[in-house]
Amino acid sequence: MLTTPEKLRSFGITPTVQRVAVYDLLHDHPAHQTAEEVYAALQKTLSTISLATVYNTLKVLTAKGALWELRIEDGVSRYDANLCSHAHFKCVDCGMVYDLWPAPGENAVPEIPGLPENFTVQDIQLCCRGTCSHCRKTAPHKAG
Ligand SMILES: [Zn+2]
Ligand SMILES: [Zn+2]
Repeated sequence: MLTTPEKLRSFGITPTVQRVAVYDLLHDHPAHQTAEEVYAALQKTLSTISLATVYNTLKVLTAKGALWELRIEDGVSRYDANLCSHAHFKCVDCGMVYDLWPAPGENAVPEIPGLPENFTVQDIQLCCRGTCSHCRKTAPHKAG
């Protein structure tokens, strides 16, 4: 197992205290946090970090390929340290973003119907929206 500084170095990133803290948070608590959520969570352990530093750190980690930047909502970036190919499910009631794992041996990236010849897909961001099982149970029954 690589330590976080070793892992960051393998992406060509100089492992500063802030970068290690941001990466560890997203890796250990994979809730697809926004920059503001990362900043709020790090206040407890790294109170000297500023929101601007969090933004810059996320930018560096994403540019070097250590994090995925997810665009699930318009104008909001969420960050994922899980680089395996996987899709997401966002619950519209509680706002939780779940990872959807493909079955072993199955590709999480679907075939793209109508992709023109000689077009190469580099990245797909697949996100389903709906209601998670927890919210479904607690939702009031609609008449009809
Ligand atoms: Zn929910
Ligand atoms: Zn994810």
